[in-house]
Amino acid sequence: MRKQIAAANWKMNLTIDKAEALLDDILKENIEPAENGQVVFAVPFPYLMMAAGKLNGKARYAIAAQNCSNKKAGAYTGETSVEILQSIGINYCIVGHSERREYFGEMNQMLAEKVDLCLAQSITPIFCCGEALEVREKEGQNDFVRKQIEDSLYHLSAEQLQKIIIAYEPIWAIGTGRTASTEQAQQMHHFIRSVLAGKWGEEVAGNISILYGGSVKASNAKELFGCADVDGGLVGGASLIAPEFVQIINALKH
Ligand code: PEP
Repeated sequence: MRKQIAAANWKMNLTIDKAEALLDDILKENIEPAENGQVVFAVPFPYLMMAAGKLNGKARYAIAAQNCSNKKAGAYTGETSVEILQSIGINYCIVGHSERREYFGEMNQMLAEKVDLCLAQSITPIFCCGEALEVREKEGQNDFVRKQIEDSLYHLSAEQLQKIIIAYEPIWAIGTGRTASTEQAQQMHHFIRSVLAGKWGEEVAGNISILYGGSVKASNAKELFGCADVDGGLVGGASLIAPEFVQIINALKH
């Protein structure tokens, strides 16, 4: 059975004292996710090692980077390579968050390079896709998301694809308080799975975790995660509030 995942994306928030306190508050709850469950915290770069240290061997918890370079190594001031991430024991990395695409000009081809570098270092990419409001208003969301997947993932083998996580995040729902309805989420997740099945086959597609992101909160997580093709969430704002994120973890399907 594919993994059900609650992934926190802290973005550029929290000073170190608040970051430590948040992690402590969540971990002290000692939530033991089901066998197929996974909790991931995507924290700012300077906190990666502190956060990894706090997990203390908890098998179903992991730390992620929020981004990585599309270059292997070298003279790229300010960048962080997947090799560096791997060397400090980081096993997950968000790739292609819409904020990276929009504010930092990250394009599908560059994201394909990041995915490849992650896979080469055994880091699981959490590959984000999703359409802007104007695309949805013209009902272009399926074509848009299909193209993101084609451009960044179609070169992968079936074996490689099964090592990635996909996060569908409609841009109009990120940080806006406006969540996709369960019908909209399920429809798109089903569509994404059918795109994967068309390229790599039903069995492979059935193994891929597809997370929903966009104003997930304690109050809507259970309903969203209950959709057949929604395998948990990538959570921004609500992941910064311990009791909210604890409830979100508890909303994962078993
Ligand atoms: C995100 O950062 O990926 C996200 C979905 O943010 P929020 O939950 O705040 O909408």
